[in-house]
Amino acid sequence: MQYGAYSTDSLMTITSRPELVFERGEGSWLYDHQGKRYLDFIQGWAVNCLGHCPPEITAALTAQAGKLLNPSPAFYNGPMVELAGLLTANSCFDRVFFANTGAEANEGAIKLARKWGQLNRDGAFEIVTFGHSFHGRTLATMSASGKAGWDTIFAPQVSGFPKAVYNDIASVEALIGPKTVAVMLEPVQGEGGVIPADLEFLKALRALTAAHGILLIVDEVQTGVGRTGKLFAHEHAGIEPDIMTLGKGIGGGVPLAALLAREAICCFVPGDQGGTYNGNPLMTAVGVAVVQRMLAPGFLAEVEASGQYLSRCLLELSAKHGLQGERGSGLLRALILDDERGPDIVRRGLELAPTGLLLNAPRPNLLRFMPALNVSAAEIDQMIDLLDGLLKK
Ligand SMILES: *Cc1c(COP(=O)(O)O)cnc(C)c1O
Repeated sequence: MQYGAYSTDSLMTITSRPELVFERGEGSWLYDHQGKRYLDFIQGWAVNCLGHCPPEITAALTAQAGKLLNPSPAFYNGPMVELAGLLTANSCFDRVFFANTGAEANEGAIKLARKWGQLNRDGAFEIVTFGHSFHGRTLATMSASGKAGWDTIFAPQVSGFPKAVYNDIASVEALIGPKTVAVMLEPVQGEGGVIPADLEFLKALRALTAAHGILLIVDEVQTGVGRTGKLFAHEHAGIEPDIMTLGKGIGGGVPLAALLAREAICCFVPGDQGGTYNGNPLMTAVGVAVVQRMLAPGFLAEVEASGQYLSRCLLELSAKHGLQGERGSGLLRALILDDERGPDIVRRGLELAPTGLLLNAPRPNLLRFMPALNVSAAEIDQMIDLLDGLLKK
């Protein structure tokens, strides 16, 4: 499409985008180039945890932008140290490496586990991952992912990622051998269709990996930083993993990700890991603002309550339209349809006028909801109302 003097054809096609350009956002609302507004339950794919342009992020960005953008990753900077301190003080991990994307944080986790395996497990390098998992779009993280077709699309794969069956502990045990260094999973499979790991499965995984002397890595790129009503989703199971990755929500909309590990695992030496933008103060200042908001009294309890409310509303809608129920954790939820009309509902939601609705269908029989963590009950009601209309056949 034409946009002012320019055409969208100048962009490489990596996804099919609707014929509109978003220009402005505020809280749960987005506005396109024609001024039409949309109720946003995608939020940049669970990224904008405080909604569009929240005042604390705008303030953190503007203050930091006038002070220091990037002294180089070879030097400490204030927000980098402060955010690492906040994360380690509020988790079971001791050290943090900052990255820019979830995939990059996961690459770091894979490298750290392999290095640890060289030093402690006789060169063991295999990381057991799961069918339908999603860990990113770099070559190694695509290989770690269990998405159908990803094993051949950019062949050859990076080797060393045998796939177990999610929520099936025996399938994991069967894959553990002398070459195994770690097990890596998402506490809730997001792209796979919002499938939560059973808490008993997570506990069993912790016990199994500990018994074999191998590492447990949790990819909390989608579930971390308040999304499930706890600061980190693995806390629901009361377990302490060895390595965790964060992305999406930690940046509240800007590119920020993190790799966290317990002291005993931190075996990188200078030269092993780095990146031009890692820990830059502009992004880490935003991370500080986000984490401080999550830690404010009552914030996470409110997320938990909103998640329960959204769950109840979706269940009612499911009963009303004869659908298959709902599932999820906190404010990462899915409505399970009775057929494959997910993409059609997403398209018609976008086209609704005067108020559009932004939803996502990670699978054709599923709608995913990942609103801002501070979404109001009134906005949830409004979403349900719009969706109710879309579900009428
Ligand atoms: C989104 C996502 C990633 C990849 O993050 P990017 O920032 O897109 O690289 C990795 N793991 C999980 C669980 C995700 O949801």
